Amino acid sequence: MNRTVVLGGGEAGLIAAAYLERASETNVVVVSERERHVFSFQLYRVIKGMPFDGATLDLRDAFADRNVTVVRDHVRWLDAAEKRVDLRSGSIEYDTLLIALGGVTRLDAFDRSRVSDVRTDAREIQHAVHSGSVRDVVIVGGGPVGVETVATLASLTIDLDVSLITSGEHLLADFPERAGRIAEGELGRRGVDIRTGTRATEATDDGVMLDGERVERSNLTVWAGGVEPNPVIENFDLPRKEHGLLVDEYLRCRDADSAYAVGDVVDYPGKVTDGIRRGWKPDEPRRTCCGTSGNGRRKSTTSGGIRESSTSVGPPPCSRRTGSSTAERGRRFCEPSPPGATRSSGTTCTDRV
Ligand SMILES: Cc1cc2nc3c(=O)[nH]c(=O)nc-3n(C[C@H](O)[C@H](O)[C@H](O)COP(=O)(O)OP(=O)(O)OC[C@H]3O[C@@H](n4cnc5c(N)ncnc54)[C@H](O)[C@@H]3O)c2cc1C
Repeated sequence: MNRTVVLGGGEAGLIAAAYLERASETNVVVVSERERHVFSFQLYRVIKGMPFDGATLDLRDAFADRNVTVVRDHVRWLDAAEKRVDLRSGSIEYDTLLIALGGVTRLDAFDRSRVSDVRTDAREIQHAVHSGSVRDVVIVGGGPVGVETVATLASLTIDLDVSLITSGEHLLADFPERAGRIAEGELGRRGVDIRTGTRATEATDDGVMLDGERVERSNLTVWAGGVEPNPVIENFDLPRKEHGLLVDEYLRCRDADSAYAVGDVVDYPGKVTDGIRRGWKPDEPRRTCCGTSGNGRRKSTTSGGIRESSTSVGPPPCSRRTGSSTAERGRRFCEPSPPGATRSSGTTCTDRV
């Protein structure tokens, strides 16, 4: 049976892996750097007070009764010509690849240590606002994340002065103008100070510099300035643009028959705007950014996948998976090569929780 490798166990990777396992004759391997997936849309509830764990899903539990193998490792580069992915602890070969490595927060010139990011710091924001030490909160960014964060903070019973800064003329600039107007009206009613057409240029010790000339006081500055594709794709031998990997209407990567990409790592029409500004007309059917991978050509390999120092191990990704439950299989991770072993020949498999 051939092997489909899914890079990334986030929103897109998880859904795709589940569908692939059910729908096709292929071994599905998910490579994820994290043990748990964080549901981004639940992070506002974390800010409100929900325990962080409630917003996460253990990948092993998710696939406990599925024939999906989870490899915990960090993707470093891709050789699409050789159908091989280089991981921190070795390499894995595939017949079909789905790249679902997501995006990262675009920080512009902001000092990361002076701003909070809902994507990664929801717990810290929760603690800060509930500790009573915070009074003035500034959110930078008038897109969906900025607007939802502000709405969340403004709905707390805690006494906060909440400001929203955006360089756009309206909130939700990537959506139809009406949506922005509704958001502005609603947030204004909740006491949020909205500054459109204003550029936040720097985070200072006690506030945010606006338009390079005046400081808005802030005890907590939340950055919601947008997303850019995962920079690891710069190490992939696949065509890409500023907004991500280039794919066709089947999500197939350009110039690579057996590699597909999905989610925030992809450059697709409408990613940055609502689609209208980047060329869509509203009555045209939208191409989805979520889908499944097809089967690629079977490439015969001697290793059958993850390589060990002297011999290959067959079917993915660990030679000792036979007879174990899928939950147990999910616990098998690949350990780094022993010192001195060459990178491409050095993965050993072991059980690790
Ligand atoms: C606060 C917030 C709220 C949001 N709310 C919504 C919403 O309500 N609705 C909506 O549609 N969208 C929402 N989004 C956007 C949504 O989260 C993303 O569009 C979605 O997560 C993209 O899915 P993805 O699979 O491409 O990336 P991700 O879900 O980010 O998954 C990428 C995965 O790849 C892994 N990874 C990254 N690099 C490596 C590596 N080198 N090696 C191994 N693994 C790696 C990551 O750990 C992660 O598990 C929100 C985003 C944020 C920040």
